[in-house]
Amino acid sequence: MSRLTGKNVLITGASSGIGQAIAIRFAREGANVAINYRGPSGGAEETRAMAEEAGSGKHLIIQADVADEGQVSEMFRYVLGEWPQLDVLINNAGIQKPSPSHEIEASDFDRILAVNLRGPFLCSREAIRHFLARGEGGVILNNSSVHEVIPKPKYLSYSVSKGGLENLTKSLALEYAGHGIRVNAVGPGAVVTPINSAWINNPKAKAEVESHIPMSRAAAAAEIASVFAFLASDEASYITGQTLFACGGLTLYPEFRVAWSSGE
Ligand code: NAD
Repeated sequence: MSRLTGKNVLITGASSGIGQAIAIRFAREGANVAINYRGPSGGAEETRAMAEEAGSGKHLIIQADVADEGQVSEMFRYVLGEWPQLDVLINNAGIQKPSPSHEIEASDFDRILAVNLRGPFLCSREAIRHFLARGEGGVILNNSSVHEVIPKPKYLSYSVSKGGLENLTKSLALEYAGHGIRVNAVGPGAVVTPINSAWINNPKAKAEVESHIPMSRAAAAAEIASVFAFLASDEASYITGQTLFACGGLTLYPEFRVAWSSGE
């Protein structure tokens, strides 16, 4: 499929995991991708090489911490210096850190909110300013989580950030719908990526995770990237303010697979 031919797409945190898979999928569908990363450039270089193999677009890599206002402004200045316009922003970067809620360091809480929620705000604000100035609309997609709606004990900051991201998605969608700007989110369940290093390479731990998923398996990052490609494309031209859950049934209250509440 080539639903994204010629589209210019900025993806945050695209040096690994779902962000990398999105870059590859979008390049395959004809897009030019700007690959944001924060730490060492190795993962971003790898993503760019894979995107170049997948499609013939002009791909960029840019270092920036999405939580830093100055670095986000600089990132947009760079991207819009290289490209005449931006069509799609994907707020993908995210972090988590487990801790009993009563023991969370305030600095950890602040940092997780800064990357997972302030980052999407800062990047969306830059993208919307550009979309309004250009007057041709645009697309913003947020990588949320099932924990946008499902509470996650010991991951309070993460759950709160994704809950906030749901409201950011809906509020921006409503505010800018009349300008042709669509804002949506994808809500993955458990995906095999580095954020889940605690279980992805441990068969016993992975089997335990997968025992809780109605579809009995974690997702590959490519299965999430394809949802982003749909929402970015004109096939989703009348969808805004929504979260599309790609979670193998995790949002379906899996405990009710058996009718325990009726005594069966
Ligand atoms: P990942 O750790 O591979 O990807 C996260 C990326 O964000 C990394 O490339 C990291 O370098 C980048 N990043 C972190 N802080 C950053 C910052 N300040 N500025 C710029 N980039 C930064 O894990 P992933 O699973 O691919 O996560 C991507 C997104 O998917 C996250 O928002 C995560 O919450 C979401 N998600 C993942 C899962 C899952 O099971 N893997 C499930 C639901 C949602």
